[in-house]
Amino acid sequence: MMLNRSIAPKRLIVNIREGFEDEFPNYRDYAYTYIDEDGEYIIVYSKKMYQATDPSIRALMRHEMAHALHFLNDNDDHSEQETDDLAEQAWGDRIYYDEDDIQTLEHGKYPRPLYLHQ
Ligand SMILES: [Zn+2]
Repeated sequence: MMLNRSIAPKRLIVNIREGFEDEFPNYRDYAYTYIDEDGEYIIVYSKKMYQATDPSIRALMRHEMAHALHFLNDNDDHSEQETDDLAEQAWGDRIYYDEDDIQTLEHGKYPRPLYLHQ
């Protein structure tokens, strides 16, 4: 197959770092994503991630990657539900919310509860 070399595919490079505890003031803050002053994509995760279940770690990190993909596609005003939807589209698994309102790939609440920030 001949690729068209004049088209540069979009490339997402994400930096992932462990955050400081004061970056996660609320019990259900596990990770967040931002673009720094150099335009680098950064996912920051809490040390709480080490205690999370595997289905939650996957759901949380997919959610954060989906935030990065929204930013990459200039969709800066996306909602949290749109982020879960993009993660579901990309990885094929629905994102639920467990009894502590943490994302999980196992069964739980869907869509994202309205009392969480949208
Ligand atoms: Zn989010």
